[in-house]
Amino acid sequence: MATITVNDQAYRVGNIFCVARNYVAHAKEMGSQILSEPVVFLKPTSALLHAGEAIRLPSWSKDVHHEAELVVLICKGGKDIPVEAALAHVAGYALGLDLTARDVQAEAKKAGMPWTLAKGFDGAAVLSDFVPVEALPNPAAVSFDFYIDGERRQHAETRDMAFDVATLIAWISSRFTLQAGDLIYTGTPEGVGPIKAGEQLRLVLGELIDARFDVV
Ligand code: MG
Repeated sequence: MATITVNDQAYRVGNIFCVARNYVAHAKEMGSQILSEPVVFLKPTSALLHAGEAIRLPSWSKDVHHEAELVVLICKGGKDIPVEAALAHVAGYALGLDLTARDVQAEAKKAGMPWTLAKGFDGAAVLSDFVPVEALPNPAAVSFDFYIDGERRQHAETRDMAFDVATLIAWISSRFTLQAGDLIYTGTPEGVGPIKAGEQLRLVLGELIDARFDVV
Protein backbone atom coordinates (compact mmCIF):
# COMPACT_ATOMS: atom_id res chain seq x y z
CA MET A 1 0.00 0.00 0.00
CA ALA A 2 1.63 3.21 -1.15
CA THR A 3 1.89 6.11 1.26
CA ILE A 4 3.23 9.59 0.55
CA THR A 5 4.30 11.92 3.34
CA VAL A 6 4.24 15.70 2.92
CA ASN A 7 4.66 18.16 5.80
CA ASP A 8 4.57 15.24 8.28
CA GLN A 9 1.15 14.22 7.00
CA ALA A 10 0.88 10.73 5.50
CA TYR A 11 -1.49 10.12 2.57
CA ARG A 12 -2.49 6.69 1.33
CA VAL A 13 -2.44 6.90 -2.46
CA GLY A 14 -5.93 6.59 -3.93
CA ASN A 15 -6.82 7.10 -7.56
CA ILE A 16 -4.08 7.98 -10.01
CA PHE A 17 -5.56 10.31 -12.61
CA CYS A 18 -3.47 11.10 -15.68
CA VAL A 19 -4.09 13.81 -18.23
CA ALA A 20 -3.29 13.21 -21.89
CA ARG A 21 -2.68 15.94 -24.47
CA ASN A 22 -2.19 18.89 -22.17
CA TYR A 23 0.66 20.61 -24.03
CA VAL A 24 0.01 21.67 -27.64
CA ALA A 25 3.44 20.69 -29.00
CA HIS A 26 3.19 17.18 -27.51
CA ALA A 27 -0.35 16.69 -28.86
CA LYS A 28 1.05 17.64 -32.26
CA GLU A 29 3.97 15.19 -32.07
CA MET A 30 1.45 12.42 -31.30
CA GLY A 31 -0.70 13.44 -34.26
CA SER A 32 -3.55 14.63 -32.00
CA GLN A 33 -5.15 17.90 -31.03
CA ILE A 34 -6.10 19.55 -27.76
CA LEU A 35 -9.81 19.02 -27.20
CA SER A 36 -12.23 21.36 -25.45
CA GLU A 37 -12.15 19.17 -22.31
CA PRO A 38 -9.23 17.32 -20.68
CA VAL A 39 -8.57 13.69 -21.69
CA VAL A 40 -8.21 11.70 -18.47
CA PHE A 41 -7.21 8.08 -17.87
CA LEU A 42 -6.27 6.09 -14.75
CA LYS A 43 -3.28 4.05 -13.64
CA PRO A 44 -3.52 1.33 -10.95
CA THR A 45 -1.67 1.95 -7.66
CA SER A 46 0.43 -1.15 -8.43
CA ALA A 47 2.12 0.96 -11.13
CA LEU A 48 3.73 3.32 -8.58
CA LEU A 49 7.52 3.46 -8.50
CA HIS A 50 9.23 5.76 -6.00
CA ALA A 51 12.55 7.59 -5.99
CA GLY A 52 15.37 5.16 -5.26
CA GLU A 53 13.71 2.22 -6.99
CA ALA A 54 14.95 0.83 -10.30
CA ILE A 55 12.77 0.90 -13.41
CA ARG A 56 12.31 -2.56 -14.92
CA LEU A 57 11.05 -2.51 -18.49
CA PRO A 58 8.25 -4.96 -19.33
CA SER A 59 9.37 -7.88 -21.52
CA TRP A 60 6.34 -7.55 -23.81
CA SER A 61 7.10 -4.06 -25.11
CA LYS A 62 9.98 -2.99 -27.35
CA ASP A 63 9.27 0.74 -27.09
CA VAL A 64 8.68 2.16 -23.60
CA HIS A 65 8.61 5.98 -23.68
CA HIS A 66 9.25 8.59 -21.00
CA GLU A 67 6.64 11.29 -20.41
CA ALA A 68 7.91 13.75 -17.79
CA GLU A 69 5.06 15.39 -15.88
CA LEU A 70 4.21 17.59 -12.90
CA VAL A 71 2.26 15.48 -10.39
CA VAL A 72 -0.27 16.85 -7.90
CA LEU A 73 -1.10 15.22 -4.54
CA ILE A 74 -4.60 15.96 -3.26
CA CYS A 75 -4.93 16.64 0.49
CA LYS A 76 -8.66 17.21 0.67
CA GLY A 77 -11.33 15.55 -1.43
CA GLY A 78 -14.40 17.06 -2.97
CA LYS A 79 -16.98 17.08 -5.71
CA ASP A 80 -17.56 19.98 -8.13
CA ILE A 81 -14.66 21.98 -6.70
CA PRO A 82 -14.65 25.52 -8.16
CA VAL A 83 -11.50 26.57 -10.02
CA GLU A 84 -10.91 29.43 -7.55
CA ALA A 85 -10.84 26.99 -4.61
CA ALA A 86 -8.97 24.19 -6.37
CA LEU A 87 -5.42 24.87 -5.18
CA ALA A 88 -6.57 24.64 -1.55
CA HIS A 89 -7.02 20.91 -2.23
CA VAL A 90 -3.31 20.39 -3.04
CA ALA A 91 -0.89 18.92 -0.48
CA GLY A 92 2.19 19.07 -2.66
CA TYR A 93 3.86 18.53 -6.00
CA ALA A 94 6.29 16.01 -7.45
CA LEU A 95 7.71 15.21 -10.83
CA GLY A 96 6.82 11.91 -12.39
CA LEU A 97 7.13 9.79 -15.48
CA ASP A 98 4.00 8.50 -17.16
CA LEU A 99 5.85 5.55 -18.68
CA THR A 100 4.09 4.35 -21.80
CA ALA A 101 4.54 1.18 -23.85
CA ARG A 102 4.16 3.13 -27.07
CA ASP A 103 3.96 0.08 -29.34
CA VAL A 104 1.19 -1.44 -27.19
CA GLN A 105 -0.60 1.92 -26.98
CA ALA A 106 -0.46 2.30 -30.78
CA GLU A 107 -2.11 -1.13 -31.18
CA ALA A 108 -4.76 -0.19 -28.60
CA LYS A 109 -5.47 3.12 -30.34
CA LYS A 110 -5.84 1.36 -33.67
CA ALA A 111 -8.24 -1.20 -32.19
CA GLY A 112 -10.19 1.39 -30.16
CA MET A 113 -9.16 -0.44 -26.97
CA PRO A 114 -8.24 1.09 -23.57
CA TRP A 115 -4.66 2.19 -22.75
CA THR A 116 -4.60 0.38 -19.41
CA LEU A 117 -1.89 -2.14 -20.30
CA ALA A 118 0.23 0.40 -22.21
CA LYS A 119 0.25 2.85 -19.30
CA GLY A 120 -0.60 0.80 -16.21
CA PHE A 121 2.09 -1.86 -15.96
CA ASP A 122 4.21 -2.26 -12.80
CA GLY A 123 6.52 0.74 -12.47
CA ALA A 124 4.69 2.83 -15.09
CA ALA A 125 3.86 5.60 -12.58
CA VAL A 126 7.27 6.93 -11.58
CA LEU A 127 7.40 9.52 -8.77
CA SER A 128 10.00 11.79 -7.20
CA ASP A 129 9.64 12.86 -3.59
CA PHE A 130 6.99 15.54 -3.01
CA VAL A 131 7.54 19.17 -2.09
CA PRO A 132 4.84 20.88 -0.02
CA VAL A 133 2.34 23.12 -1.75
CA GLU A 134 3.89 26.24 -0.15
CA ALA A 135 7.07 25.60 -2.16
CA LEU A 136 5.21 26.11 -5.46
CA PRO A 137 2.68 28.87 -4.82
CA ASN A 138 1.95 29.26 -8.54
CA PRO A 139 1.92 25.88 -10.30
CA ALA A 140 1.14 27.68 -13.57
CA ALA A 141 4.61 29.29 -13.57
CA VAL A 142 6.92 26.33 -13.10
CA SER A 143 9.53 24.83 -15.37
CA PHE A 144 11.08 21.38 -15.15
CA ASP A 145 13.45 19.16 -17.10
CA PHE A 146 14.02 15.52 -17.87
CA TYR A 147 17.44 14.05 -18.68
CA ILE A 148 18.73 10.71 -19.94
CA ASP A 149 22.40 10.05 -19.07
CA GLY A 150 22.93 13.78 -18.52
CA GLU A 151 21.36 14.87 -21.83
CA ARG A 152 18.22 16.98 -21.64
CA ARG A 153 15.30 15.37 -23.50
CA GLN A 154 12.25 17.27 -22.25
CA HIS A 155 11.68 20.79 -20.97
CA ALA A 156 8.31 21.99 -19.68
CA GLU A 157 6.89 25.38 -18.89
CA THR A 158 3.61 24.76 -17.08
CA ARG A 159 2.20 28.02 -18.49
CA ASP A 160 2.03 26.07 -21.79
CA MET A 161 -0.55 23.65 -20.35
CA ALA A 162 -3.88 23.72 -22.15
CA PHE A 163 -5.59 23.05 -18.79
CA ASP A 164 -3.73 24.35 -15.73
CA VAL A 165 -3.60 22.56 -12.37
CA ALA A 166 -6.60 24.41 -10.91
CA THR A 167 -8.70 23.75 -14.01
CA LEU A 168 -7.76 20.06 -13.96
CA ILE A 169 -8.77 19.68 -10.30
CA ALA A 170 -12.08 21.43 -10.97
CA TRP A 171 -12.79 19.37 -14.09
CA ILE A 172 -11.79 15.99 -12.60
CA SER A 173 -13.92 16.71 -9.49
CA SER A 174 -16.88 17.50 -11.75
CA ARG A 175 -16.75 13.96 -13.16
CA PHE A 176 -15.26 11.92 -10.29
CA THR A 177 -15.22 12.35 -6.52
CA LEU A 178 -11.73 13.55 -5.72
CA GLN A 179 -10.27 12.03 -2.53
CA ALA A 180 -7.37 12.85 -0.23
CA GLY A 181 -4.38 10.85 -1.47
CA ASP A 182 -5.35 11.00 -5.14
CA LEU A 183 -2.60 11.86 -7.62
CA ILE A 184 -2.92 13.79 -10.87
CA TYR A 185 -0.27 13.39 -13.58
CA THR A 186 -0.79 16.64 -15.47
CA GLY A 187 0.51 15.73 -18.93
CA THR A 188 3.82 15.88 -20.75
CA PRO A 189 5.46 18.44 -23.02
CA GLU A 190 7.01 17.51 -26.38
CA GLY A 191 10.16 15.42 -26.65
CA VAL A 192 8.89 12.00 -25.56
CA GLY A 193 11.00 9.05 -26.64
CA PRO A 194 12.25 5.57 -25.71
CA ILE A 195 14.16 4.58 -22.58
CA LYS A 196 16.58 1.66 -22.52
CA ALA A 197 18.11 -0.65 -19.91
CA GLY A 198 21.36 0.81 -18.59
CA GLU A 199 20.25 4.43 -18.81
CA GLN A 200 19.98 6.81 -15.89
CA LEU A 201 16.92 9.05 -15.88
CA ARG A 202 16.73 12.33 -14.00
CA LEU A 203 13.85 14.69 -13.20
CA VAL A 204 14.73 18.22 -12.09
CA LEU A 205 12.56 21.09 -10.89
CA GLY A 206 14.77 24.07 -9.99
CA GLU A 207 16.37 23.60 -6.59
CA LEU A 208 13.35 21.72 -5.27
CA ILE A 209 13.42 18.33 -6.98
CA ASP A 210 16.29 16.25 -8.30
CA ALA A 211 15.31 12.60 -8.70
CA ARG A 212 17.32 9.87 -10.42
CA PHE A 213 16.18 6.45 -11.60
CA ASP A 214 18.20 3.62 -13.09
CA VAL A 215 16.64 1.57 -15.89
CA VAL A 216 17.62 -2.07 -15.49
MG1 MG B 1 1.29 11.42 -20.12
